[in-house]
Amino acid sequence: MPLDTTAFHNVINGELTSTAQTRHAINPANKEPNPEVPVSTQQDLDRAVTAAKEAFRTWSKTSYEERRKAILAYADSIEAAKDELTALLTKEQGKPLGQAGVEVGMAVTWARSLPTIEVPETVLQDNDDAKVIQRYVPLGVAGAIVPWNFPVLLAIGKIIPAVYTGNPVIVKPSPFTPYCGLKLAELAIPHFPPGVVQAISGGDDLGPLLTEHPGIDKISFTGSTATGRRVMASCAKTLKRVTLELGGNDAAIICDDVDLEKIIPNVAIFSFLTSSQICMMIKRLYVHEKIYDTFLDKFVSFVKNLPVAEGTAPDSFIGPVQNSMQYEKAKNLFSSIPTENLKTALGGTITDSKGFFIPPTIIDNPPEDSRVVQEEPFAPILPVLKWSDEDDVIARANASDSALAASVWSSDLDRARRIADQLHGGSVWINTHFQVSPFVPFGGHKASGIGTEWGLQGLTQYCNSQSLWIKKA
Ligand code: NAD
Repeated sequence: MPLDTTAFHNVINGELTSTAQTRHAINPANKEPNPEVPVSTQQDLDRAVTAAKEAFRTWSKTSYEERRKAILAYADSIEAAKDELTALLTKEQGKPLGQAGVEVGMAVTWARSLPTIEVPETVLQDNDDAKVIQRYVPLGVAGAIVPWNFPVLLAIGKIIPAVYTGNPVIVKPSPFTPYCGLKLAELAIPHFPPGVVQAISGGDDLGPLLTEHPGIDKISFTGSTATGRRVMASCAKTLKRVTLELGGNDAAIICDDVDLEKIIPNVAIFSFLTSSQICMMIKRLYVHEKIYDTFLDKFVSFVKNLPVAEGTAPDSFIGPVQNSMQYEKAKNLFSSIPTENLKTALGGTITDSKGFFIPPTIIDNPPEDSRVVQEEPFAPILPVLKWSDEDDVIARANASDSALAASVWSSDLDRARRIADQLHGGSVWINTHFQVSPFVPFGGHKASGIGTEWGLQGLTQYCNSQSLWIKKA
């Protein structure tokens, strides 16, 4: 039976539940209301935490093999609902159907791949006196706070590591995109004991209720740096474990020896995918002065042909930005184009439309201290800047509080490696950008985050390290 995407519930203790109050988000392509969703209260959260704590007693004792089996069956259910989830994702997030399908597909891949990673026990000492084993034990109830840009992949990227390592998880989707998150928990019901995978939706006050809750042991948060600081302060009160995946202002450095025809489509896609609302998009593009003019001409020609249309249009590449808050933020940033006397190579004006559409905009060599270089736009506006000296461009790339990721593009791999080795960021790529894998830890340096998700290291962040001493004598 196809997944019903007309009615939405919380998932608490293995059951679909409703709340007295409901709300709805909107479809950013046409501002029409999407269906009603629950507005959860402290009592709803308390019930979910109680169920999770109860579930922890047995789930934490199941074997990795049992958990893997449950997760793989869950992955099959997500895959079976791929078409419905894809359409729902476009309707709530705005991204084109093709990109939504890729996101749902990635979620299935993550669900199938993460539980193939073995979490090791390490013998640290084994002699006549004692054997000492370091191992990872589940830590308790996890709270997963998800943003609105990748509501499916980022929810699954928290659910699977939590439950695979033996922890129940309570998912809190963004109020802007609650729909797929609730459905992902609904799809989990037949595969896990009650209380293991739960989801509750609500308004802006629900996140702080999770971070304050004494019954939650870990928060995995993905969102803005400003909110991340509040999450950490709140978690400190109960000494919750925290993983913070925060904002980025990724630099890409293009050397003068690149093959322009080859790289321009990739650089453009890694700058404007999902209307640039990805933490790890190229947000500052440094191009060597020797090729700057030619690069800019070709880049603009490519980007101006990327279709801007609602996500359901067959050839759409740039959908609307996700919400009115983001749209207004973008408008405010665009207002700096005239006030800072910036030169546009493409776009530059936002005109009213039936959705939150913003044309891709390229700023030609703005000053380093302009807002568009300094701030994370999270909208399709990109500064392209000139460089000539290698040390200088590395310093400019690193001169940011954010250090989520960075890339360098060159045909000379030794040169690229020399530059890459000096760049700040949790991920550094050569001749590409925005590469992620369930097997590769991912996280930010500096104000871009604390801790990592995915890969073995990401899994162990849902565990406590325990040292077991076995005295022999
Ligand atoms: P946001 O910080 O506004 O919200 C993120 C989530 O936190 C939402 O679910 C929200 O309801 C919740 N929240 C809000 N206030 C809270 C509080 N005080 N306590 C607890 N939870 C609270 O971020 P956003 O606008 O949804 O997402 C965009 C930002 O996320 C960008 O800066 C982007 O770079 C960043 N991001 C980072 C990554 C990463 O992995 N590093 C991935 C995607 C997005």
